[in-house]
Amino acid sequence: MKYLRFLRNPSATEIGTSVESFLRYLGGPTCIFLDGMDSSRTRAFVTLLHGNEPSGAMALFRWLKSDRQAAANTVCIVASVEAALASPCFSQRMLPGSRDLNRCFRPPFEGDQGRLAREILEILRLYHPEAVVDMHNTSGSGPAFGVCTHMDRQHDALVSLFTRRMIVTRLNLGALMEISEHNYPTVTVEVGGRLDECAHELAWTGLCEYLQRPRVLAGDEADWGVELLRNPIRLELNPGIGLAYSEYPEPTFPVVLRPDIEHLNFGVVQPEVPLGWVNDELHTLFRAQDASGRCAVSRLLRVEEGRLFPAAPLKLFMITTNAAIARSDCLFYAIEQDAAAVTA
Ligand SMILES: [Zn+2]
Repeated sequence: MKYLRFLRNPSATEIGTSVESFLRYLGGPTCIFLDGMDSSRTRAFVTLLHGNEPSGAMALFRWLKSDRQAAANTVCIVASVEAALASPCFSQRMLPGSRDLNRCFRPPFEGDQGRLAREILEILRLYHPEAVVDMHNTSGSGPAFGVCTHMDRQHDALVSLFTRRMIVTRLNLGALMEISEHNYPTVTVEVGGRLDECAHELAWTGLCEYLQRPRVLAGDEADWGVELLRNPIRLELNPGIGLAYSEYPEPTFPVVLRPDIEHLNFGVVQPEVPLGWVNDELHTLFRAQDASGRCAVSRLLRVEEGRLFPAAPLKLFMITTNAAIARSDCLFYAIEQDAAAVTA
């Protein structure tokens, strides 16, 4: 059974009058092929792997409405359309009971989401794009950044169309970029918070750059001034550990984080900045593995009379205040400041 519907050059009039009607028109996961001025090359734009991250679909809708022609052929994949349409629109990362699609891009490709992931990879193989941009939003508010698994000038060039900040990570989660990277330069772009107007605007201006520029890969530019952040560590809750966001300790929750914690995104957080409260031993509550597979919990966190603090200066990002996402994915990513941050 095929999941992806295929459309070629849909007209501005047939795709509806809002992003929601556009998604209804698509009806499910869709591959949209756009003929470019240069038909000898193809670029890929993937978005809505997560149904609650609207910026990419909004930008693509706006592009299709604008009746412009891309510089090169473009294959656009809009993935979690059903999850996005579940009421209220753009509220669900995936449908209840489904796996996270952006954790399914590796064998054995089981279940509906696994098969959809495999189909997306087959589409990419078929078109062999010169580059792949996978656009996401963060669940919490915060600035934009790129993510890649391998760093070179091509990735610098691609990410600089959107932002000057890039995370380089070898995390092995089953995300699209981890596998796609072997064949085409691939970057994940987190354009900012899913509810942030400026994230939608950045998605739009960045997508225009990506589609309109005759060249998006590196040429003879000296440098793009992209700040590189290497080897972030995911801080995860151990299974079954309760979590709340509150300005006060909540005795029924072993972990309580302050509700404004997302304001710490990308700042350097010093060891005296309180993060919340805990009522148990750190290793019972949390897990965190560094790039070499060692436990990093006590390098990231410390407790003082039940209050939770960073153990050292940390750069934190992808901080969520959505407890369901924090429990199923992670609380945040952290980079140890003395060890890993470099500017290139
Ligand atoms: Zn996402």
